[in-house]
Amino acid sequence: MLKRAAPYQFVSATLALLWVFDAAAAGPDATWRRRQRPKEAKLGDTGWSVADLTVWPEEPPSPPADALDVGRLDAALRAMCPRLGAERGSEYAALIIRYSRQFDVDAMLLAALVYQQGRCRRRGTHYGVGLTRIHVGMHRSHWNQADRTYSYWLPAADGTAWERKSLALPDFPFNRWSARKPDAGLYFSAAVMAIYGAQCPHIDDAHGASAPHRSPVSHFIWGDRVRSSHEESEVLIARRRVIRHYTGVASPLRGAFRGRPLVSPLEGPPRKLTGGWGDPRGPRRRHKGVDFSSTMAEPVRAIADGVVWIAGADMADKPTMSLRPDRAQRLSRGALGRAGLIVLLDHGGGLTSGYMHLLKYTVRTHQRVKAGQVIGYVGRTGVKSSSAHLHFEIRVDRQRVDALPLLGPLVISHLDTKAGRWRQARWDRENKKLERERRRAANARWRERRAKKAAARKSRD
Ligand SMILES: [Zn+2]
Ligand SMILES: [Zn+2]
Repeated sequence: MLKRAAPYQFVSATLALLWVFDAAAAGPDATWRRRQRPKEAKLGDTGWSVADLTVWPEEPPSPPADALDVGRLDAALRAMCPRLGAERGSEYAALIIRYSRQFDVDAMLLAALVYQQGRCRRRGTHYGVGLTRIHVGMHRSHWNQADRTYSYWLPAADGTAWERKSLALPDFPFNRWSARKPDAGLYFSAAVMAIYGAQCPHIDDAHGASAPHRSPVSHFIWGDRVRSSHEESEVLIARRRVIRHYTGVASPLRGAFRGRPLVSPLEGPPRKLTGGWGDPRGPRRRHKGVDFSSTMAEPVRAIADGVVWIAGADMADKPTMSLRPDRAQRLSRGALGRAGLIVLLDHGGGLTSGYMHLLKYTVRTHQRVKAGQVIGYVGRTGVKSSSAHLHFEIRVDRQRVDALPLLGPLVISHLDTKAGRWRQARWDRENKKLERERRRAANARWRERRAKKAAARKSRD
């Protein structure tokens, strides 16, 4: 143990020297070693943080903690994690409720961490271990194994110094092997969430400026210094989904088409877009829809009442065909075109909606569907390089249009995210350059013609 700790301490000591020059924080400087993920534990898609956090509406309240029901939370977990059996579902639900009560944290948020971090699976990765992928190494300097206490710091009443606090956690040893187990993993995750709940926002700038964030859950993922708000927004989307399944009540947010309400194609709106209408896709092709950031196999729902126009496959070498759901599952990857497995719905009044790259669908052509009914699951059929996402399209009078204005409060535009803005700025620059080159070429042609004319006139004179 000692041998492994030594290089870690050396690196931290070197970093500590750097922190001296990073003391812009308004509060007192941190006196403790920074909790942080190791370098190799890179997190995905951090560029999809939204630039202005005020675009997120207020989060819905959780059901009252003293009346939480194991059966309902079990059903919610199993709706979100289809491979989770009844036995593990009720075990996890009971543990989530027990430890969220013991440490006074939001059970819906703890359940959301179980889904978002581990997909209800307890195996470990470099990222962390157990159901919530808690990173035990990050807490090593705060954990005292001899008396099983966790030390942390809060500002003293006068705000000029840090006061050391300590929380007794006697039930389990806090190490990677123990945290892999559901009971110990959830016990420590709830405790760490409670501690960060007390510390955020006091510690946000104690080790250099944190990225702006809305919830202490950001610290659970990043440690003392939060680097991005993307991971937090994914957890909060999962929390809204847990609440939806637990209460059975869908989000009240609505889009609109000619006065008709539209519900979200994905649960837990608002959902983030990672691609928009008209984005370049190669030199000539343009993106004819919007892309939802989503997880593999999450349910896709009809945005309004309607009839299935096509449930089938976009084929590589022939026109789109309607197929029975079980037949579609047997198609080879190579047979599929760019859109993969698709469902198109006709909602009447000139409105149709399209859902592409589905893992599978559950409806048949000509079938009637209700608003909010599950029609399929997010996949990446037909997709070459990007990860699983929902490509969504709207047609008005059979013409494809930008879905963004119709979806309204159901989505956070890709142009509200850092990556989306950066990409847009790059395309704007490229377009300007192309425009300049076109103008220069046109001018050169005009000058050439004028010179030729002048030369012809001269030879006539
Ligand atoms: Zn914070
Ligand atoms: Zn797309």
